[in-house]
Amino acid sequence: MKFGGTSVANVERIKNVAQHVKREIEAGYDVAVVVSAMSGKTNELVGWCKEAAPLHDPREYDAVVASGEQVTTGLLAIALQAIGIKARSWQGWQVPFETDDAHGSARIKAIDGTRMLESFARDREVAVVAGFQGIHAPSGRLTTLGRGGSDTSAVALAAALQAERCDIYTDVDGVYTTDPRIVSKARRLDRVAFEEMLEMASLGAKVLQVRSVELAMVHNVRTFVRSSFDNPAQPMPGTLICAEEDIMEQPVVTGIAYSKDEAQITLREVADKPGVAAAVFEPLAAASIVVDMIVQNVSADGATTDITFTVPSADYARAMDVIEKRKDEIGYKLVQSAQEVAKISAIGVGMRSHAGVAAKAFKALAERGINIRAITTSEIKFSVLIDVAYTELAVRTLHSLYGLDAA
Ligand code: ADP
Ligand code: ASP
Ligand code: MG
Repeated sequence: MKFGGTSVANVERIKNVAQHVKREIEAGYDVAVVVSAMSGKTNELVGWCKEAAPLHDPREYDAVVASGEQVTTGLLAIALQAIGIKARSWQGWQVPFETDDAHGSARIKAIDGTRMLESFARDREVAVVAGFQGIHAPSGRLTTLGRGGSDTSAVALAAALQAERCDIYTDVDGVYTTDPRIVSKARRLDRVAFEEMLEMASLGAKVLQVRSVELAMVHNVRTFVRSSFDNPAQPMPGTLICAEEDIMEQPVVTGIAYSKDEAQITLREVADKPGVAAAVFEPLAAASIVVDMIVQNVSADGATTDITFTVPSADYARAMDVIEKRKDEIGYKLVQSAQEVAKISAIGVGMRSHAGVAAKAFKALAERGINIRAITTSEIKFSVLIDVAYTELAVRTLHSLYGLDAA
């Protein structure tokens, strides 16, 4: 079981979480519970690091931000003991969750669940585990898994313990056709295919961290997204993330995602000759900047063309720096950029077998006066880049267009 920030936001809610755990214990399961920090806590800790020094040692950043989860593990263990359930807290390094040393966005390399399984066998002691944290064994330093990383902790632990299920409890009762915070007509899905969830998460649906979906898919972990606000005595099933074959009726579009964390960069009048794209994108890759959408025009005069691409907002300044420093090698006339952009995506495995899915969207957006700056498509999704001001309108338009609105 995993409980996110809003589910452990205060002691009252932590006591409510204890009731959910009690139910599963009474049903005969051994339980490991992964908890996040109280909502808002991680943001506060990140803010303090920045205040202490804008550029700081990432190992110390991890020491600071991992502390939020330590508090909630202890509190939940206390709340469980108070209702007569044996429980203890486990920090990431105690389990341990071994990771690489990419501080701030470390990847889990191995989890040793032996001692936890022993404690289940001995007296069914509930393991209350700190999400988001790990340890880099060679250096003995604390690490964190990147924002939203507790989802990944939970799925990885479920895989390591060969758990029957991994239930991700949050503040919504499942995965919706789009973010229910911005579209009131969003519908809860009973099932979502791994591939779709992977696309939805990486295209902006923050309900699950991308890496957790990858792990669930690779290790075939039965993962549910459900609400911690349901009555602990009568929980609803939530959404099952499962293999495509396990979904009977497949709509063409399953969900709409959006992301405001993009920036657009356009190079004007680049020479239209072999090697230019490499000259632009190789230095960006060398700087570990992930480029997402790329559009290159056909040149009108056979001599020059324009190249447009997007990068994560967080990397915008670095990307501009790389491009400006390489002006001579790349040989462009002018660079233009826009940070007030959003990427809207439609996702569905049904797209594989249907034509004209994206074309319909372009028309609907045009009818609402929404200009499309760039487009990308793949087998099971397409994305459009638009002005950020139109985000909500565009998401609602596509949501209705593909018949996703609740009745
Ligand atoms: P937690 O703190 O439990 O990890 P998060 O805030 O990380 O919770 O994730 C839950 C939130 O994800 C929801 O409140 C919702 O606004 C947002 N969300 C975005 N897209 C979706 C979607 N397609 N389905 C459900 N929730 C979504
Ligand atoms: N507390 C961490 C965060 O806010 C990890 C998580 O909640 O998943 O990013
Ligand atoms: Mg989360």
